[in-house]
Amino acid sequence: MRLSGLELGLFLTLLAVSVFLFGWRLGAVLGRVHRSKPDTDFHLLPLLPRVKKFVWEVMLQAKVIRERPWPGVAHAIVFWGFCAFALVTLNHVSEAFGWALLSAHGYGRFYRGLAAAFAVAVVVSIAGLAARRFIARPKWLGEVSYESGLIAFLISALMLTYLAHFALAEGSASARANWWLHTLALLIFLPLIPHTKHLHLLLSPLTVFLSRPGFSRIPPLQGDEDFGLIAGKDVTRITSLQVYTCVECGRCTEHCPANLTGKILDPKQIVLGTRRYLEESGPRDSKPLLGKHLSMEAAFQCTTCGACEYQCPVGIQHLPVIIGLRRGAVNTGQWEDAHGTKLFLNLERTGNALGFPRSERDQFIQKHALPIFDGRQEYCLWLGCMGSYDPQGREIVLALAEVLRFLGIGFGVLRKEKCNGEPARRLGNDLLFGTLAEDNLAEICRSGVRKMLSICPHCIRTMKEDWKEFGADLEIEHHSELLARFVAQLPEPDGQRPRVVFHDACYLGRYRGIFDQPRAVVSRLGRLVNPPRASERGFCCGAGGGRFFLGEETGKRVSVARAEELLATGAEVVGAACPFCHSMLRDALATVSPAPPRLLDIAQIAAQAIGSNHASEE
Ligand code: SF4
Ligand code: SF4
Repeated sequence: MRLSGLELGLFLTLLAVSVFLFGWRLGAVLGRVHRSKPDTDFHLLPLLPRVKKFVWEVMLQAKVIRERPWPGVAHAIVFWGFCAFALVTLNHVSEAFGWALLSAHGYGRFYRGLAAAFAVAVVVSIAGLAARRFIARPKWLGEVSYESGLIAFLISALMLTYLAHFALAEGSASARANWWLHTLALLIFLPLIPHTKHLHLLLSPLTVFLSRPGFSRIPPLQGDEDFGLIAGKDVTRITSLQVYTCVECGRCTEHCPANLTGKILDPKQIVLGTRRYLEESGPRDSKPLLGKHLSMEAAFQCTTCGACEYQCPVGIQHLPVIIGLRRGAVNTGQWEDAHGTKLFLNLERTGNALGFPRSERDQFIQKHALPIFDGRQEYCLWLGCMGSYDPQGREIVLALAEVLRFLGIGFGVLRKEKCNGEPARRLGNDLLFGTLAEDNLAEICRSGVRKMLSICPHCIRTMKEDWKEFGADLEIEHHSELLARFVAQLPEPDGQRPRVVFHDACYLGRYRGIFDQPRAVVSRLGRLVNPPRASERGFCCGAGGGRFFLGEETGKRVSVARAEELLATGAEVVGAACPFCHSMLRDALATVSPAPPRLLDIAQIAAQAIGSNHASEE
């Protein structure tokens, strides 16, 4: 089809306006990202994991489909349809000049047919997604979005006009009118992409590819002048890119334990609030981030469970922002919290988060004849604050020690051990975290430790990942990993096997991908039951992110919400694999039931199998 001179002039004018509006907004967004602070810790290499993630999450849309199969498939079809229509669109534009990239025969004919099949699938998918958004209206999507309605209409118009051209006679007036309808839909749609949340169509492939490696990783502070996220000038390029990519789907909020229990924290609003700040003030501004768009109270309600990052379909990492805001608030003295102050003082004065004199740890070790690590044993058993001072944590350590002895595995504990700095790190006090990490590292090096073992997923995460900033490269594993390897050597229990519901600890499951190992141990004692939210979708106990040491006055307690869910399974035993979860669930189960199920760590479950005294806390 060749346009007349007048038509061509009109087409070129509209095309120029559309491309200008598209490029103007996209250029402004990319300019803000580029003017943001460089991420000095960013390394593009190794490329292979990035390519794999890109193929899995972008090309195959696997993450979107996995978490919400029906809307996910519909969304994936629209995405694949867009890819298929890139060539169709070029062909459409070239037709204005009388050229045809896709001929009516051979390969061109095949491709047109394929695109037609995609067009039908896209129309059906868009209808389904629109019905969900405007009729079913899950609350996570927020207010009704007319912008989404317009986009859905334009995409449908593009597909239907493409399909219509097969039915219209070449060169007829109706074919010409259809060509113009398709063109108008295209030229309106193009600038809407960067002006709306559909910007994710352009940015999300880049965001996923450039995301920070590792799950929920907290980037290190960049030098002595970096005090966290205080103002716009502290927002880095990766963060800027991520906040502009948000598609406002609300999946992060839908799974956030703080939000679900009535706190003001809304991870979607953390992302959008940062975006609104950048829109209003730009990335170089000195105006505080906390205030108009972002709330300090919300930032400190986060349990760092990682559910938001796990769910986000476009690769947004919320914790660098949340912890960054905490760092800024702590370092500028804005955060005033009696519990937080007490925690930091405890860590400074006693070296442990619970504030006990160090002699209490020595007495515990002596009383139970725990061997001191002398370089000859296979494992150095890290006790952590909970294992050293908390009564239930100590029971877990003693149960594990008995199991290790039964299995003939050599272990010893450090003569001196301080908190590894985990709660200080998550609450934004990097100075204190660094001091504690370095003191511990010196002791570990002095003791000639090769392999470490811990009952605490929080300790493991901090020592294995966060301590890398101080040159550490520790081999440390969780007791569930070790016990799973030796589970066949534990005697089979006699008689009736109780139903055991297993609670996934966020720092063991989502953070480290360890789901099967603790379940293997649980299955040795009883019949495994999973709560409705399990494994990658496990629901937090409320202790992470230093929250264990703070008050929880707003809304329902996260631990109570989880305890109710565990209780509803009717299991006789609740299995846990983290001393923080253990402590939270113990109190919460007692709150929600006058006769709560027994609560056992997997070390106690293993100890029960060998008939140990430390099999139960009762
Ligand atoms: S890490 Fe967990 S608690 Fe924090 S914002 Fe994300 S989902 Fe909510
Ligand atoms: S941050 Fe991710 S999960 Fe949350 S609303 Fe934005 S795109 Fe959705």
